[in-house]
Amino acid sequence: MQTHNLGYPRIGSQRELKFACEQYWSGKIDVTVLQKVASDIRKRNWRLQSEADLDLIPSNDFSYYDQVLDMSLVLGAIPKRYEVLTGQKEQLLDLYFAMARGVQKEDLDLTAMEMTKWFDTNYHYIVPEFTADQTFEFFDDKPVREFKEALELGYSTKPVLIGPLTYLLLGKEKEDGFDKLDLIDRLLPVYLELIGNLVEAGAEWIQLDEPFLAMDLETRAVELYQRVYQEIRVQYPDLKILMTTYFEGLRENLSLALSLPICALHIDLVRDPSQLDDILDNVKSPMSISLGVVDGRNVWINNYDNSLKLIGKAIEKLGEDRVMIAPSCSLLHVPCDLQLEYDAALPPTIKQWLSFARQKLGEIKELAVLAELDSNRKEDPTYIENQRRIEARKRSELIHDENVKARVSALRPENFSRMSGFGTRQQIQKSRLNLPLFPTTTIGSFPQTVDIRQLRLKHRRAEITNDQYELELQTATKKAIQLQEAIGLDVLVHGEFERNDMVEYFGQQLDGFVFTRFGWVQSYGSRCVKPPIIFGDVKRPKPMTVKWSAYAQSLTEKVVKGMLTGPVTILQWSFVRDDQPRKDTCNQIALAIADEVKDLESAGISAIQVDEPAIREGLPLRRGDWSDYLDWAVRAFRLSTSNVKDKTQIHTHMCYSEFNDIIEHIAAMDADVITIECSRSQMELLDAFGKFNYPNEIGPGVYDIHSPRVPTREEMVDLMEKAVRVIPADRLWVNPDCGLKTRNWPETIKALEAMVDAAQTLRQSVSELVD
Ligand code: GLN
Ligand code: ZN
Repeated sequence: MQTHNLGYPRIGSQRELKFACEQYWSGKIDVTVLQKVASDIRKRNWRLQSEADLDLIPSNDFSYYDQVLDMSLVLGAIPKRYEVLTGQKEQLLDLYFAMARGVQKEDLDLTAMEMTKWFDTNYHYIVPEFTADQTFEFFDDKPVREFKEALELGYSTKPVLIGPLTYLLLGKEKEDGFDKLDLIDRLLPVYLELIGNLVEAGAEWIQLDEPFLAMDLETRAVELYQRVYQEIRVQYPDLKILMTTYFEGLRENLSLALSLPICALHIDLVRDPSQLDDILDNVKSPMSISLGVVDGRNVWINNYDNSLKLIGKAIEKLGEDRVMIAPSCSLLHVPCDLQLEYDAALPPTIKQWLSFARQKLGEIKELAVLAELDSNRKEDPTYIENQRRIEARKRSELIHDENVKARVSALRPENFSRMSGFGTRQQIQKSRLNLPLFPTTTIGSFPQTVDIRQLRLKHRRAEITNDQYELELQTATKKAIQLQEAIGLDVLVHGEFERNDMVEYFGQQLDGFVFTRFGWVQSYGSRCVKPPIIFGDVKRPKPMTVKWSAYAQSLTEKVVKGMLTGPVTILQWSFVRDDQPRKDTCNQIALAIADEVKDLESAGISAIQVDEPAIREGLPLRRGDWSDYLDWAVRAFRLSTSNVKDKTQIHTHMCYSEFNDIIEHIAAMDADVITIECSRSQMELLDAFGKFNYPNEIGPGVYDIHSPRVPTREEMVDLMEKAVRVIPADRLWVNPDCGLKTRNWPETIKALEAMVDAAQTLRQSVSELVD
């Protein structure tokens, strides 16, 4: 039996790499300082993993920014616009960061490469760009350098590479007339050269990540998998290739995977434990199977009893020599080290149920030891302790709230629908709210200035009193209301100055959530997120936002929208308990939000927005699984927003994504108004909303808030005129495409003035049409 790891977090347990990169980018440190921070992290990670006594530890899992971008540089897949930077190899890192982040200097203006989500994680990778005449060359020997670096420190590692097919499939054709898979014949020789260099440097094992084997694959890719791995095998018959798959089960690609000439195949038994039987029935000697039993995507301790059953089955069929034990995927997606969480914010009882990257290494080793103990394991102290914690968690009063469970099980169909259909509601709301045609609004947040951030920080550190804090927040809110009135917006917002983050703000006020101090996970580049941990039944002990919404509403005659984060987004951006279906947890959150919606309504708030920016990113990786997810996600949203009178206008907001293929489900959410990001691919989205005949009101974002550029009235009028062609004018709203918290005030004011101006122009031209 062998133990191994697929990859370790590289941001540093204190986010050292983040800070070093940011200092380097702003010119505060030079490249040698940055490189030293990086090599210290690698060294420490190797030491930790070797101390954990794993048989195989990875190298080349380190990255300054992203492992896919690393691979693009290794393979010389450098888009032409960066050619000016490819000259001097000693400045490789500047080329690399230019690709990741773009450059804007006096004489240079290069856009960054595109970024997108890494499968269904919250990690974002840099998308390789391919052209029809794409060539590859062995450009950067990072994997070899890091392998040698580890060797010099005394660690013989397993280099990790993104497999050639996954690499191509992750990329994007930048022009028409070819398929990225056409490039394989040009790509493969470079992989062979790279592998040759690793073998020459002494690598015995190489890990090739091919997660696409667990996705829906087109036939062409299936054929190429066969051919490519055959060629690698022919060239390097003695090399041990460990091919990894993760985030899903292999399903119909199972026989393909088992037919490849590789030494070992890694499977994700957390996502799909049921695939093990099939694999054991079909695997042929001498292939080993690496069992991904320790969850690389979540923070809970492993249940040794479950894992040992799976391991036992594999050993029985394959013998110990052909079984490997590992985390389900790279540990990149979990925080570094639970030991850092010393403080009371994380109750000791709950801490005992958690396991971060470093602890997971220990679990892998312990599982291997226990598996060898066979029938005596039940007396082993580590096993006993593990089962004690598992049992304690199951039965803990901290987790279970009978009232919450009873409420969820008592839900009836009527809890998921508004009283009347949209037509009736629209009429009632129109006469109540008395809004003009093309009403203008914003998405919720206003600029989070340095002052506002400082204010929250001071409050958190108890440097100011609660009263002082509230007073300052009131001042900021009042200013925002006055500004919106002066600009002439129709539906106002309070500005969200009291919120640090749209999930954390709610999590902190709900029962069933805990927060860590150092539980950072890389999101993209130097950006990290610290997801809340949902450990138990979710309950709202008291109103969360009513005070601020009511205060804002008291300042104006105009409508102020209440502002909440939706249940699916709260779920999606947290570490979720693994002892019940996600759907059940989502319904509990939905009930808490529903209570808040009700209280806002009672407080006289006539429009309430429930944001669901993350609804699309929860989509399962396999298309066949989509409808099940969408059904429960949409139902959870409806549960959170249906318990109101017809006169209350429910808004929702979505961003970051393409909606065309899920538009029917968005319609099924039945929000009275949806404001949606679409200024970047306006036409496409409107097209979809037009074709499908979206039934409710919609505000297609008329300008991109991600850019500091102030949009002109004309371009916004232009966009809305396009919208009018596919959506009736009396269902259209005018708004930016997302919250304004990342912008500054002067930009914001100018942009909103132009937007209000655009709405007036539109009203004018439509009334002329009617006359
Ligand atoms: N209401 C939130 C805001 O304006 C929405 C944020 C989001 O869509 N990501 O900041
Ligand atoms: Zn948004």
